[in-house]
Amino acid sequence: MNNLTKRIVIVGGGAGGAELATRLGNTLGKKKLAQITLIDANRTHIWKPRLHEVAAGMLDAGSNELSYVAHAHQHNFRFILGKMCGVNRDEKHLLLSSLEEDNEEILPARTIDYDILIIAVGSQTNDFGTKGAKEHCIYLDKREAAEAFHHSFLNVYLKASQAGSNSDEVFNIAIVGAGATGVELAAELDHTAHQLVHYGFDGIKPENVKITIVEAGPKVMPALSDKTSVAIRRQLESLDIQILTGQMVTEVTAEGLHTKDGKFIPARLKVWSAGVKSWDFLAEIEGLESNHIHQLIVKPTLQTSNDETIFAMGDCCSCTLQGSEKPLPPRAQTANQQATFLAKQIAAFINHQPLNDFVYKDKGSLISLSKAGSVGSIMGNLSKDFTFEGRMARLFYISLYRLHQATLHGWFNTALLILRDRINKRTGPKMKLH
Ligand SMILES: Cc1cc2nc3c(=O)[nH]c(=O)nc-3n(C[C@H](O)[C@H](O)[C@H](O)COP(=O)(O)OP(=O)(O)OC[C@H]3O[C@@H](n4cnc5c(N)ncnc54)[C@H](O)[C@@H]3O)c2cc1C
Repeated sequence: MNNLTKRIVIVGGGAGGAELATRLGNTLGKKKLAQITLIDANRTHIWKPRLHEVAAGMLDAGSNELSYVAHAHQHNFRFILGKMCGVNRDEKHLLLSSLEEDNEEILPARTIDYDILIIAVGSQTNDFGTKGAKEHCIYLDKREAAEAFHHSFLNVYLKASQAGSNSDEVFNIAIVGAGATGVELAAELDHTAHQLVHYGFDGIKPENVKITIVEAGPKVMPALSDKTSVAIRRQLESLDIQILTGQMVTEVTAEGLHTKDGKFIPARLKVWSAGVKSWDFLAEIEGLESNHIHQLIVKPTLQTSNDETIFAMGDCCSCTLQGSEKPLPPRAQTANQQATFLAKQIAAFINHQPLNDFVYKDKGSLISLSKAGSVGSIMGNLSKDFTFEGRMARLFYISLYRLHQATLHGWFNTALLILRDRINKRTGPKMKLH
């Protein structure tokens, strides 16, 4: 088969998939060496590690989203709006479910043919089936959820503003999980509580916003070293954020959280950010191997274990490299490094060249604790664990997002976007107030 006819289909335009589609579009697509298609269930892309900022009102998702259609047009690939629900490996086509909006079918169920398929559909929150979690918690894994949280948060202030600054109303917020999402959200919400007073929302005093993080494990940021975990905990406690470790949540009600030890944590708003799992439909693809959280098992080449024409990357795959016992962590930097790797790997594959094994470089984990408490941050596994905090760390944290933007838009356009953000910050409100 001529390379011209090669149909490379990427499903999921997130932290990894959007970068891969851009890289392949700029190379194979531009030279017309292959037809590159990106499919996503949403019309726009927003970088997931910033969702806690959207939830806290510190980032306007609308002005930081990327239109897939426009981006595809500029980078020599085509975009199809659709939700993948399966694959027919014999026929080499994937299945998209019908798209409905307001009870109207916008697009019918369809099939899309591929020669090479790259699955990059990410993950979702795992509540481990905890009673009441689905009904009463917000899962911060989608833009809509982050925006819904922001509205609920503002509504509490709107109601309280009737009482004015004499009110002693207490606003309890509980976050399940002391991983990156929970920790960053808690710090950002504390910052928001202080900002809102400046805009006249003085019905709830910042000191009356009681944020509690509940973690089943023995420490905050369980994946990081004790030293960095302690540094983060210290910063959070300096913001008066309560941290309960070693407490497993067994039930969520409208009033709050119940733990295995019999504790009750009252909460008006509840966020579940304690674990991840991938999508059920991945486990149902005939012939492909998946694990207990429905991630596809891939070889170090990132090909699925039983089908060399189907690759998977990012949060939706489980990749254990040689010499390691644990699979790679579901992180933005894993997805980002795999996108860079796959751009070359796919080119080698269509040219029938030998494939390489993916090499993961842990560049450490940076945790943004917002401006209110400066930033606690970590660079792990350079030569040894190295903890650093403050302005420098904040700069490194922001640079992760800027690197993602640079892959998508190039450095010149990223510089313009940085300038635009600075102008907006200077001229507009410090946070989203609607
Ligand atoms: C609030 C928050 C904070 C985080 N902070 C950090 C951090 O500080 N550092 C870090 O390294 N990581 C962080 N993460 C994790 C990081 O966001 C993920 O590891 C990363 O986004 C994974 O990239 P991905 O490309 O695999 O998936 P995603 O970025 O999740 O993209 C998946 C894409 O697939 C699309 N999709 C899903 N299902 C379908 C379907 N059926 N059909 C078509 N399209 C579909 C989605 O719309 C999405 O565009 C954070 C995550 C959250 C939620």
